Amino acid sequence: MKKSKTINLGGVLIGGGNKISVQSMTNTNTRDIDSTVKQIEALESVGVNIVRMAVLDSDAARAIKSIKSRVSVPLIADIHFDYKLALESMESGIDALRLNPGNIKNKENVKTVIEEARSRNIPIRVGVNAGSLDITKYKEPTAENMVLSARDHIELMEDLGFTNIKVSLKASNIKTTIEANELFREKYDYPLHLGVTEAGTLKSSLIKSTSAISYLLLNGIGDTIRYSITGDPVEEVIAGKKLLKFLDLSQDPSIEIISCPTCGRTIADIDYIASEIERNTVNIKKNISIAVMGCVVNGPGEARHADFGVAAREDGDFMFFEKYETPIKISSSSVIQFLIDKINNF
Ligand code: SF4
Repeated sequence: MKKSKTINLGGVLIGGGNKISVQSMTNTNTRDIDSTVKQIEALESVGVNIVRMAVLDSDAARAIKSIKSRVSVPLIADIHFDYKLALESMESGIDALRLNPGNIKNKENVKTVIEEARSRNIPIRVGVNAGSLDITKYKEPTAENMVLSARDHIELMEDLGFTNIKVSLKASNIKTTIEANELFREKYDYPLHLGVTEAGTLKSSLIKSTSAISYLLLNGIGDTIRYSITGDPVEEVIAGKKLLKFLDLSQDPSIEIISCPTCGRTIADIDYIASEIERNTVNIKKNISIAVMGCVVNGPGEARHADFGVAAREDGDFMFFEKYETPIKISSSSVIQFLIDKINNF
């Protein structure tokens, strides 16, 4: 297996065994600076490492300057076809481009963009999506054709001596995504950005993205990841961060919530309590495990092993466990706030 080379994207090192970074993409109008900054801040608050924005016109490219001055996370401009937008985005201080050079018709313009990126040390991501392969060249969206399409874009840059490249090969099909990335890694050492494209709404994307990304990461393939989810991009970052934690690929401290699946013995609204605690502690950078259990038959065992745990009593209140100390009773109305306070004071 080839080891990927390292690139520097606005201070975030990608590839070469560096930490896997989590990306997301804003869904605001990039020209709307306040809304875009607000969304990037929300993504930063849940730990995003890199944010991509669509740059559709010169106004959006100019907005990058103000947006960059108000956020600290590195930004990527997503550009199709128009080389001038790439130049304007770089002029505005963008950290990286997502641009397929083969889509720029005039080769002199490709050269101009590459020279500018080189002089500013700006990486370019080639993004191959199975659904948008050049159909005059590649009839079927197979893994082989996706890698060939990436090669077309890469060769344009390599011919100009430019190798500050990152690549993504995304299909909406899990197996195609996996095969394309495996095939690519056999042939190239450029860092890979993993994701399943058009993965759907939250539930579908969690299953599709987790299947493909986990398989690849566990086999040593992949340097940055993105969950594509229809809806709030904050969910993409939370999912990405959690996956890296569950795969033991992240040392970043975070709250782990262990909650029982609920059954006929369940006395309290465990779903609500666990979800509220998760929602209120998502930004807290501490390694704490919290158990939320639905009864005192099987609950106390799990609750005792966590840093803090609660198990519902038959009267509707809760037993609170703090490691192996004597449990105390907490009323059902105060259990959520009680746990949040415990986490904050830990
Ligand atoms: S902890 Fe109790 S309520 Fe929860 S699933 Fe187990 S037996 Fe059911």
